[in-house]
Amino acid sequence: MALSGTQLERHKRHILLKEIGGPGVQKLLAAHVSIVGAGALGGPCAMYLAAGGVGHIDLWDDDLVERSNLQRQIQFTEDDIGQSKATQLAARLKASAPDCEVTINKARWKKADALGGTILIDATDNFETRFALNRVAHESQRVLVSGAATRWAGQVSIFASGLDAELPCYQCLVPQMPPDAEACDDVGVVGPVTGMVATQMALETIKLITGAGKSLTGQINVIDGLSGAIRNVRLRKDPACPVCGQAG
Ligand SMILES: [Zn+2]
Repeated sequence: MALSGTQLERHKRHILLKEIGGPGVQKLLAAHVSIVGAGALGGPCAMYLAAGGVGHIDLWDDDLVERSNLQRQIQFTEDDIGQSKATQLAARLKASAPDCEVTINKARWKKADALGGTILIDATDNFETRFALNRVAHESQRVLVSGAATRWAGQVSIFASGLDAELPCYQCLVPQMPPDAEACDDVGVVGPVTGMVATQMALETIKLITGAGKSLTGQINVIDGLSGAIRNVRLRKDPACPVCGQAG
């Protein structure tokens, strides 16, 4: 389908890029992604994807907006306090990109819940959901875009173990729940670090959809907010991984 005049105007800066262009914008408009978590990572990530033309976004989050979220969850305002994060983020996305179809799930995503997206985005803050999402991504042969942030540190990676048996999955990186697993509620996190992770997740998702550049698949970017350094590390597949290893 040809782009409308409004779409040409809206997406001009993507159309001007040879790596995206008109065909890339068409791919973005046809894309469907599922974002689990509408907080500090899911919020800005979803905003960039909706603004960038992604046609359909599923949001999952059972939380309500709290005042302490506003330090980093810049998609929300004081008026949103006490309201559903999924609902308020959806409203923010629709205000920015009315053509984006947003499916709201005001529930904590569980393994049995179907995910409509062809790309799954892990923007959660707990290992139980991360492990379940990784397994679903692996078993359904979908790409998992994964991000995390705590204190001054962030990390972003992409897993595609279901599509290429040589590639690692999230559980190759994190075999089991760390004994010192901490939610950012308990330890603090710098707002812009969550923003860096969220925007890199959106960037990688746009690259995956359009085929632009080289994706972070099988690698991890580790952001050190205190020094400003970003380190890129290739991840190893764990042959004994319970999800993607020989026993998986
Ligand atoms: Zn694995």
